[in-house]
Amino acid sequence: MKDATIALHHGFKSDPTTKAVAVPIYQNVAFEFDNAQHGADLFNLDVPGNIYTRIMNPTNDVLEQRLAALEGGIAGLAVSAGSAAIHYAIQALTRAGDNIVSTPQLYGGTYTLFAHLLPSFGVEVRFARDDSAEAIAELIDENTKLVYCESIGNPAGNIVDLQRFAEVAHARGVPLMVDNTVATPILCKPIQFGADIVVHSVTKYVGGHGNALGGVIVDAGTFPWADYPEKFPGLNTPEAAYHGVVYTEKFGPAAFIARARTVPLRNTGAALAPMNAFLLLQGLETLALRMERHTDNAIKVAQFLKAHEQVAWVSYAGLPDHPHHELALKYMKGKPSAILSFGLKGGYEAGVRFYDALQIFKRLVNIGDAKSLACHPASTTHRQMNAAEQAKAGVKPEMIRLSVGIEAIEDILEDLQQALRA
Ligand SMILES: *Cc1c(COP(=O)(O)O)cnc(C)c1O
Repeated sequence: MKDATIALHHGFKSDPTTKAVAVPIYQNVAFEFDNAQHGADLFNLDVPGNIYTRIMNPTNDVLEQRLAALEGGIAGLAVSAGSAAIHYAIQALTRAGDNIVSTPQLYGGTYTLFAHLLPSFGVEVRFARDDSAEAIAELIDENTKLVYCESIGNPAGNIVDLQRFAEVAHARGVPLMVDNTVATPILCKPIQFGADIVVHSVTKYVGGHGNALGGVIVDAGTFPWADYPEKFPGLNTPEAAYHGVVYTEKFGPAAFIARARTVPLRNTGAALAPMNAFLLLQGLETLALRMERHTDNAIKVAQFLKAHEQVAWVSYAGLPDHPHHELALKYMKGKPSAILSFGLKGGYEAGVRFYDALQIFKRLVNIGDAKSLACHPASTTHRQMNAAEQAKAGVKPEMIRLSVGIEAIEDILEDLQQALRA
């Protein structure tokens, strides 16, 4: 099936007892065992089935399967937010004394997790000097457990060379983990270019309506964990946190996602509410259509701003003069989502006046809503960084980030026009 069809049908036929066609909301905590043996088999992970919604839920399961299918992975794990997905995916592979290597240009919350929280638990995060594969390769050593990047950086809009990243990571026996939130699997499928793990904030384009938080981890099922027993003891030796299971033996290619579910999620509980899974599935059904309109509108906004005399610079990899335009063509057919940033010639002051005059664009910190959104990263998402850190993350003081929605383009351009006059 093609993406638009997968997004509507994969992972659910119709409810076996009621014949309901919309995915039911299993607003339910625990699931009954047939008998003691059935309960034991479920807990041993010997038979598939539901136990308790902190670990799995039938509504969440459809979201997991559907997003995994769109990304070309073998399994997914839905959690309460994109941030939890990132943390759990990393926790499933690391312990104190390990390090991970990351690009410097990241979503603000991810940066804070990497720069402060993970190191406080003994996991070192090595930020590369830039987002080249060479800079990543230099930092990998025997304690490196994964390479991390965003396929399209939020908010900088930079695009990384996924294939080269996968090559340098795999050459050292390390998996590549990619945050594909901004691109979505409609525009880019990192697994096709060698990614081993894909993480998502489905809060953004996948849900698409700004009404539910959620995160999903997708396992490509490709990384040979069993070839590196010493590097990945959590997957290759008996798991004390789950009565001695050896994940690579029990789950083969799905070892990583099985551990993410049964160790970090089961024991710390950032489970996705079934109601949110339902809302996110509703959004996912129209993702392919929306991304078409989002990207059509984004290029028109970029061209409009670029041609405007008050605008100093526009950064959108869909424009031919952007340094990452070639990468945008290679990895996302020239449609690098609908997040773009720009600065006014009047600098910070003019930017603030423009921002305050917007009427259709909502002033808030979110992206990927069907509605157009605007944000000023230096005073919000990236304000916990100092000026040098902001510069390294690709955030300029006057920068305004737009998430271009699916409204009629005439109305979007008119709103920008009147705000520029202001
Ligand atoms: C929003 C976002 C996150 C965090 O997701 P939440 O669902 O808000 O926790 C992670 N990565 C990227 C690229 C994001 O845009």
